[in-house]
Amino acid sequence: MRKIDKETVEIVGDNHISTSVETPILKNAFEKSDDQKIERIQHLFGEIMKELGLDLNDDSLSGTPYRFAKMYVKELFYGLNPKNKPRLSVFENKYRYQKMLVEQNITIDSSCEHHFLPITGHAHIAYIPKNKVIGLSKINRLVDYYAHRPQVQERLSLQILRDLQHILETDDVIVMISAKHLCVSSRGIKDKDSFTTTLEYGGCFNQATKRNEFLKLIDHV
Ligand SMILES: [Zn+2]
Repeated sequence: MRKIDKETVEIVGDNHISTSVETPILKNAFEKSDDQKIERIQHLFGEIMKELGLDLNDDSLSGTPYRFAKMYVKELFYGLNPKNKPRLSVFENKYRYQKMLVEQNITIDSSCEHHFLPITGHAHIAYIPKNKVIGLSKINRLVDYYAHRPQVQERLSLQILRDLQHILETDDVIVMISAKHLCVSSRGIKDKDSFTTTLEYGGCFNQATKRNEFLKLIDHV
């Protein structure tokens, strides 16, 4: 592991600075199977619990390292593995619908990569079809996939935007996410009420009128 300067570590975490659109993943990240990862994480998390002073012989705690490991690999962070990416089938836009299509209140269940604490909220997404349209639930599935990896909200928005623009073959996509970060509400500044909104867009959404049409539809103006 790189030698770390503790002060810089705190600054990066509290300001939620991300370094790139791609999630930083090791080259050998998926050489081990999920079961091998669960076994190893189970051992390591048990060590953390013991270091905290907990007695793993207690009936209530003995299964926690396994539950924790399985939850990390299979649930919270299943979206790290590209194999789990949903297949995003698109269709020809046969009915030539060329106005805005909005999918709103998509659940965001993610985790902050600086503190590994929950990020919860909603995504609102719109696009204006050219030649391709996408099944509505596929948008939800794509959001779910990218949310289930350690994240920074800005990067999550960009990853969703970029993929939708690619598969829909148009830049005319807008992604808005409003979410609460447990690392802001339960530690650090401990602000229970604030939430964070990110807005990423391309193509025609660069025009304020199009953006406002979207914001009005989702009732944010
Ligand atoms: Zn955080």
